[in-house]
Amino acid sequence: METLSYQKTFLDMNISQEDSHRSLSVPPRAKTTMMRHEDLEKHRADYATSLLARAAETFSWPVTQTETLGSHGHPEICGNPCIRFFYGNCQKGVNCQFCHLEHDTTKKKLDKTQRLCFESLSEAQTLSMLLNHMEMRCRKQNLTAQMSLVLACMRRRLKALPKHAHVTPEMVAILSTIFKKLTLGRLLDLIRSSRNVSNAFKAELLAVAARAVGRPIPAAGEATSENSL
Ligand SMILES: [Zn+2]
Ligand SMILES: [Zn+2]
Repeated sequence: METLSYQKTFLDMNISQEDSHRSLSVPPRAKTTMMRHEDLEKHRADYATSLLARAAETFSWPVTQTETLGSHGHPEICGNPCIRFFYGNCQKGVNCQFCHLEHDTTKKKLDKTQRLCFESLSEAQTLSMLLNHMEMRCRKQNLTAQMSLVLACMRRRLKALPKHAHVTPEMVAILSTIFKKLTLGRLLDLIRSSRNVSNAFKAELLAVAARAVGRPIPAAGEATSENSL
């Protein structure tokens, strides 16, 4: 019973106070015990972590799922999952650019070391590493034919770039563990987010990718990961 009521508190708070910055209320046990400040903080943090973990285990996608513009190519290369739909308040319906179909909600992110390493890559290193992983992913998902123009576009860009330093074994060691876990959509997101890849090439590549999956072509500079899980 206790577990259930804790979950409900957490979920209610997320749904109704999504936009407020109110911190977690002090867990009931802590209110009745005199605790040193640090202990209280730690207790709060542990409490919040355990709530999050339990909510992630039990919170499921809304039962009624409709395909949206952002769902094309689901689950491999659809738009990011829609956070508003997840919390039951997306007003855009089928025109939403984010995906309303069920996703694994544990978002796979680069940790700090991986992020710093990724940011240190030149455009050529970024594209050659990601091309390699995208080719593997396409073979695994049987998408090589559908994605052929996207891959060709990256190969052409790589050839056009001036001679470059190769990707080192250290870079591969740091980045390939996370890259192997990412879908094609998330690998493309990394190209979009890279400050070292030219904007003109990004726009071209994302337009080719959108065409390959039948999605509207993103406007230049459009942020597509906001409002997503
Ligand atoms: Zn999807
Ligand atoms: Zn939506």
